[in-house]
Amino acid sequence: MANSVNLKYFESWKDKDPREFTKKKKCSFCKETKTTHDFTVNRYFHDGISSYCKSCKKKNFSPTKEMRKNSHLKCRYNSTLEKYNVMLKQQKNRCAICGVHKNRFKRSFHVDHKGKGKNLIVRGLLCVTCNNYLGLKERFKKLEEKVSTYLLSPTIQL
Ligand SMILES: [Zn+2]
Ligand SMILES: [Zn+2]
Repeated sequence: MANSVNLKYFESWKDKDPREFTKKKKCSFCKETKTTHDFTVNRYFHDGISSYCKSCKKKNFSPTKEMRKNSHLKCRYNSTLEKYNVMLKQQKNRCAICGVHKNRFKRSFHVDHKGKGKNLIVRGLLCVTCNNYLGLKERFKKLEEKVSTYLLSPTIQL
């Protein structure tokens, strides 16, 4: 019976590396025929092996750090990595406020901006500390009156 044979094949296939069954495969990207160990296992394919070889996959389908950074900038600030780097160069790789070099920080500089949508303007690139300070400054501007009132409030001697 064809069905039982198929099932048996499937059963054995399931816990084994599918590359045991197929020794060679043509990469559908670079069109080179390679040993299947140059491919990754992918259960979604009929033979259980990815259609692109490892090196093609690496080269073409895994976003690099730069690319991820770029897409992040693009959607948030409508800026590109190129612009970011130009700005960084203009600031001599230093934070626009405190002037500390970017190598002193683990994380890359924040894109400090104001406005929204089309009116969005990038002011400069800031280190984590200065960026946080700006946020706090905004917060305390709103609270300034309350802070003053609080400081003048009657005290109780304990
Ligand atoms: Zn390939
Ligand atoms: Zn700074």
